[in-house]
Amino acid sequence: MKDVKRQVEIGPRPSGTAALAEARARITESLRQAGWEVEAQEFEHAPVPKQGEMHFINLIARFPADKSRSASRDAQSVIIGSHYDTKRMDSIRFVGANDGASSTGALLELARVLAKAPALASRIELVFFDGEEAIVQFGPPETGPDGLVGSRHYATVLRDTGRAKQFKFGIVWDMIGDADLTVTLPRDTPPALSASLFAAAEALGVRRKFGFASGDFSDDHSPLNLIAKIPAMDVIDFEYPPWHTSADTMDKLSAASLETIGRVTLWMLAKELGK
Ligand SMILES: [Zn+2]
Repeated sequence: MKDVKRQVEIGPRPSGTAALAEARARITESLRQAGWEVEAQEFEHAPVPKQGEMHFINLIARFPADKSRSASRDAQSVIIGSHYDTKRMDSIRFVGANDGASSTGALLELARVLAKAPALASRIELVFFDGEEAIVQFGPPETGPDGLVGSRHYATVLRDTGRAKQFKFGIVWDMIGDADLTVTLPRDTPPALSASLFAAAEALGVRRKFGFASGDFSDDHSPLNLIAKIPAMDVIDFEYPPWHTSADTMDKLSAASLETIGRVTLWMLAKELGK
């Protein structure tokens, strides 16, 4: 929750701003303190062609199994991601406590917890996506060009370098901090992943907080599925009235909700990677 607050206190954090650079510096510092190596994956892209190219930066964290050398790039088999940008809103002050900061802060806590289990940590790739939010309107997940910019670039690099093949699955967290937590998985979630997540929730006594949305929607998991061909799920709570309003603030969140998502995800990881 402190990491969530440290993001929110920066203020609005749209792609390409100095505020997002500050958010990135805080994320990087927290990851390095927990023993993770951080790669800044930088690229240029024009989400709205007539407005020209913008600079985007995904942060990718890997944990070295052996402290005497740097983390290899072929040991990871699961991706866990969150977007860290917030939607640019010209008419309101939008700080994205739930939409952007909640999953980012929780992922930093997950990094610290995983660091206590180095063998498991070395099999996880943590990704903080830039450019999830559309500047004007989302295009198709495979092509954009607006929205899901960071995850589309990351997935394309995985595909083109052949790294995609090493990953068993991916989990994206988005809007996981609402005190009234109701996870609404998209209907098209790969069934093996929803079953595994629900089994973990059942084992931890929180199954009633997890269900399906009434339909499908795109998020940062979509390019992983469609471009990198890695089964990926979006753990998201879309039953959140303050979504994309100035009321998406810290007072709507609870640490208990972040903990629920963290524990369920860790349980699922231990089950899936323990096999
Ligand atoms: Zn959003």
